[in-house]
Amino acid sequence: MSDGYDLVVIGAGSGGVRAARMAATYGARVAIIEEFRVGGTCVIRGCVPKKLYVYAARFSEMFDVAESFGWQVDAKFDWPTLVANKDKEITRLEQAYVANLEKPGVEIIRDRAVVTGPNSVHLVNGKRDLQAKTILIATGAHPSIPHILGAELGISSNEAFDLPKLPHSILIEGGGYIAVEFATIFAGLGVDTTIIYRGDCILRGFDDDMRRGLEAGLQDRGIKLIYQTTIKSLAKAGDNISATFSDGVVAPYGAVMFATGRAPNVRHLGLETAGVKLTPMGAIAVDGYSQSSCPSIYAVGDVTGRAALTPVAIREGWYFAETVFNNNPMMVDHSLIPTAVFSDPEIGVIGLTEPEAATHGDIDVYVARFRPMMNTLSTKTERTILKLIVGANGGKVLGVHILGPGAAEMIQLVAIPMGMGASKADFDRAMALHPTAAEELVTFKAPTYTYRNGAKV
Ligand SMILES: Cc1cc2nc3c(=O)[nH]c(=O)nc-3n(C[C@H](O)[C@H](O)[C@H](O)COP(=O)(O)OP(=O)(O)OC[C@H]3O[C@@H](n4cnc5c(N)ncnc54)[C@H](O)[C@@H]3O)c2cc1C
Repeated sequence: MSDGYDLVVIGAGSGGVRAARMAATYGARVAIIEEFRVGGTCVIRGCVPKKLYVYAARFSEMFDVAESFGWQVDAKFDWPTLVANKDKEITRLEQAYVANLEKPGVEIIRDRAVVTGPNSVHLVNGKRDLQAKTILIATGAHPSIPHILGAELGISSNEAFDLPKLPHSILIEGGGYIAVEFATIFAGLGVDTTIIYRGDCILRGFDDDMRRGLEAGLQDRGIKLIYQTTIKSLAKAGDNISATFSDGVVAPYGAVMFATGRAPNVRHLGLETAGVKLTPMGAIAVDGYSQSSCPSIYAVGDVTGRAALTPVAIREGWYFAETVFNNNPMMVDHSLIPTAVFSDPEIGVIGLTEPEAATHGDIDVYVARFRPMMNTLSTKTERTILKLIVGANGGKVLGVHILGPGAAEMIQLVAIPMGMGASKADFDRAMALHPTAAEELVTFKAPTYTYRNGAKV
């Protein structure tokens, strides 16, 4: 095959695969270059294995309440079985991704790619150059590891899925969704788990009730939270890793994991050879059509630093292909993105938080707190929280925040009426489905509290 393509995609993750497939379907001659495994972060070491491990960890919650329903449980957990079955499933998914690329005729090249100009890409191992009318950069992001002494003794989410054995204890640094998800995974599998975070509460940027509710849920599960502290250094101590904290405390852990953010994969990509500009945060700067400062180079997904989520990367890849290869310019709307935290308890959110909504005008806030029905026969006291934020006096629904079982599934469906601009009256018109947690969203009567002129009343 000659080396002149309509499109060369760098990175076969969520965004790159969708763009390559769609462009090929529209008749373009497409090559996709991947240096690791087809499927990218989501399939190989992100959403998919994470959710499988979340399911594994949640059995312990079920066993906790099982007795109250009359069950006698004597369960044992085997980590190698989980890892092996996870590997089988991601290999199956990887093969499906490969097949979906090959079907419309995308050429898959397993190599590392470097941009060498506006229309050329070099294959590092194959030592050859490809020419392309358009280049799409979809190289994703990688875990940021703090520059501290002994950092190499720690792991990131990349390694956490494949530890040779489950540690007796783990220290997780970070307060974002990856930190709390892995904390509940490890705690659920029986690991003594501690989160250390430089801020004063986990999940910065989320609704305060969700943050405090999850904090209580983590503590209920025995997860220790150390705030306003960081890890200063790590050292080997026999089979353990000794962590020295910023307050001088020294403590041993079976493993240490950094969940301290992710950075776009832009290094050693040769972007400067084509004049591709970066944002102040180090992501590739793009316009609404995902076009970079070099007209023949586009970028989608995590490498653009917009919203680092799989469905967003996929939508950006799809709209890129529509725009460039189907003569149908389309811009992704990043304004209403449903988000979940697959911790235990789980969080699902869409739209504005209270402080954000209150700056837009007067709002009414409806809050329900109750014990999930599953727990009512046991002594568990944990509360589900549902919060609806609405423009004052029956206005548009501006935000929905849910903490509790099924929160993510609920929020995905709430995204539909919210995208249509639904009001409180639209929600109220829906018949309740009983007994569910979600019925609270359509049965709220008087607001729990309001904001008038920016102040809580
Ligand atoms: C632990 C974890 C859990 C997550 N959970 C969720 C979740 O529950 N829901 C959700 O929506 N999102 C989740 N995400 C985020 C999601 O995985 C990403 O947003 C998504 O994968 C981004 O897709 P992408 O196409 O931008 O990049 P990626 O999927 O990261 O793909 C980029 C690909 O480019 C390749 N590559 C990089 N540089 C080169 C090069 N020079 N040459 C060749 N190949 C290269 C990489 O090997 C990689 O395969 C999670 C992420 C992590 C880390």
